[in-house]
Amino acid sequence: MATQDAQIASRLGENLAAVRDRVAAAAALAGLRQPPRIVGVTKYVEPAVARLLVHAGLQELGESRPQELWRKAEALRDLPVSWHLIGHLQRNKVRRTLPLVACIHSADSLRLLEEISREAAAQDRTAQVLLEVNVSGDATKTGLPPDAVEPLLPAAAQLPRLSIIGLMTMASLEGSPDRTRREFAGLRELRDRLAVNCPPNVSLNEMSMGMSGDYEIAIEEGATIVRIGSALFEGIS
Ligand SMILES: *Cc1c(COP(=O)(O)O)cnc(C)c1O
Repeated sequence: MATQDAQIASRLGENLAAVRDRVAAAAALAGLRQPPRIVGVTKYVEPAVARLLVHAGLQELGESRPQELWRKAEALRDLPVSWHLIGHLQRNKVRRTLPLVACIHSADSLRLLEEISREAAAQDRTAQVLLEVNVSGDATKTGLPPDAVEPLLPAAAQLPRLSIIGLMTMASLEGSPDRTRREFAGLRELRDRLAVNCPPNVSLNEMSMGMSGDYEIAIEEGATIVRIGSALFEGIS
């Protein structure tokens, strides 16, 4: 390994250990039996650095743009990576994305779910998806309005080869810690309310929420998956 790679690898290892420690501490404080899973968001770095992160011990990686996910999945295809698409997915990109991903976090319309289902059937696979909810009400954010989730579930539950396994959200970027907490709590309350009458074959166990700046709050409010980018790449340009 070149010297520079060795330095990056060692810094990644330290950053990952620090994030894992903080995730574990937040989970312990919240009384969770097991800490949430960490998806490492690699959108800031080239595939070579993402590769070093996998070597450092993180095997779940996320990208927000489909084309970037395709590119990195191809570059890292010799490694046992589970890829997560965490950003907006256009229907015309479903076909190429589906074979590459373990989970799509950003399903935000029935039309998109229909396309994912149709394509999953054509490819003889089952797609795992989370419904993205815009809990902040921020108009610039994607995601379903909270009150649009329940009406969508019965139709979504009918779609073949599609497993809805939970909800995903992003807190408003400008928010105070209090506001962030209210938004994450809002997603959990929505989940708890919907879980009571959930159609069979829909499960809302997974809660994907929390990024570098707010993952501890998210864990306290019930996150099962946190999506961490910048905290993993601190000190690496
Ligand atoms: C970029 C991104 C993240 C990670 O953000 P950081 O603040 O860098 O940890 C998480 N989720 C989504 C949807 C993102 O686009």
